[in-house]
Amino acid sequence: MKDQDHKRILIANRGEIAARIARACRELGHTAVGVWTDNEVHARHLEYCDEWVRLPGFTNAETYLNVENILKVCKDYKIDGVHPGYGFLSENAGFAEKLTSAGITFIGPHVEAIRSMGDKAISKQIAKKAGVPVVPGSAEAIESVEGALEIAKEIGYPVLLKAVAGGGGRGMRQCFSDDDIRNQFEAVQRESKAAFGNGDLLVEKYIINPRHIEVQILADKKGNTYHFFERECSIQRRHQKLVEETPSPIVSQELREKMGEAAIKGAEAIKYEGAGTVEFLVDKNGDFYFMEMNTRIQVEHPITEEVTDYDLIKEQIKVAAGEEISGRNYYPQRHAIECRINAEDPSNDFRPSPGKITNLHFPGGHGVRVDSHVYAGYTIPPFYDSMIAKLIVSAQTREEALIKMKRALQETVIEGIKTTIPFHIKLMDDPNFKAGNFTTKFMESFDLSDL
Ligand code: ADP
Ligand code: ADP
Ligand code: MG
Repeated sequence: MKDQDHKRILIANRGEIAARIARACRELGHTAVGVWTDNEVHARHLEYCDEWVRLPGFTNAETYLNVENILKVCKDYKIDGVHPGYGFLSENAGFAEKLTSAGITFIGPHVEAIRSMGDKAISKQIAKKAGVPVVPGSAEAIESVEGALEIAKEIGYPVLLKAVAGGGGRGMRQCFSDDDIRNQFEAVQRESKAAFGNGDLLVEKYIINPRHIEVQILADKKGNTYHFFERECSIQRRHQKLVEETPSPIVSQELREKMGEAAIKGAEAIKYEGAGTVEFLVDKNGDFYFMEMNTRIQVEHPITEEVTDYDLIKEQIKVAAGEEISGRNYYPQRHAIECRINAEDPSNDFRPSPGKITNLHFPGGHGVRVDSHVYAGYTIPPFYDSMIAKLIVSAQTREEALIKMKRALQETVIEGIKTTIPFHIKLMDDPNFKAGNFTTKFMESFDLSDL
């Protein structure tokens, strides 16, 4: 893409992120071309687009993951650039490569960055070489039970068997003993092969009671790499985030600068371009370890936007067009929180609850943002991620933000399905959460039985 020109941008995604990207395209004066499938005939994200294209078929392989068909759509609709959102083709190096060869801009990092950071073993090697502390463990994928036992002996138990190609919190198993490794290794290999098409496993130290704290990065093609400080993402279930906030209640300015510099070092090591996130685990001593890098926009990007006043999606589009990043801000002035509103039953182990939304009202008021694609009468298809809305609030202090979040959650009405809202309301009153006293293990002891 050339600077400043009007572009035709294909949004190869659905749901709230497709709507989010379409809004940014419109504000930049570009044409947003949306896609949809027969699984979702009245897809609200299309209403934010200028044009839309039906993807034939029903399964993801036939539709959102169908690289050849999406390339054909790009040619037929004279697309200049593709924004992949998150999930689907966002971390598919082969797709980015084919687009690039066809002269179409992939709105994301270059192919090599996606490829190397998409492999949790290779990315750790790169980070380590760049001087970034990494989670201790095997330098490469381990092929046999014997190899895994050897590494476990070196680093000590507990260890984590982790799919190098994993994502979405899947492909991980904790082991406390040699017997655990003997019993689990081949099963995790098989599951990873089935889920990610790659059965390679890493063996890494299982960090006890860590916090998941990640750093947002933005880099342009002119050699500028900035960090937009941290997001605290420790409130998780099944290794998937439920609530995120920025800044983290435990990160000091000194730690913030150290983690930011480490994230920049990691990104610069691969000449990163665009928006990305370096994920770290932070232990109780405040030591931090590189875990992985996500080479895409993340679900929780709005909290960073709310405290920095940057539109990260617009920046992604501008950077892909060769423009410089418009500035930087290292110091959080406000506090923002996001609650993921999922169509799930929190009192029943977060079991998915797809179906028809019969009544809906989203909250509003000062400091409240809702990113969503659902409406009253919408039927949530069972085939996709269960997240139906992101509720984001920002305020001058964390305390105020928590109060505002509770108020906004209480204003929200979503009828016809179960949602995670009752859990979020309870969380906003939890003394440990309010005190900033929590780790990735928090949900294991959080009582959901009375929701
Ligand atoms: P994914 O690609 O699925 O996001 P990650 O490697 O980012 O996988 O890990 C997801 C979550 O799993 C982390 O946020 C953390 O809660 C947990 N986790 C991953 N690696 C470790 C580890 N070595 N020790 C403790 N917890 C871990
Ligand atoms: P984030 O850090 O952006 O919150 P998530 O791990 O929640 O990332 O993933 C964002 C979306 O992408 C979710 O819909 C998740 O299910 C999906 N996703 C992420 N990685 C993978 C993967 N390797 N395979 C399939 N889906 C994935
Ligand atoms: Mg991760």
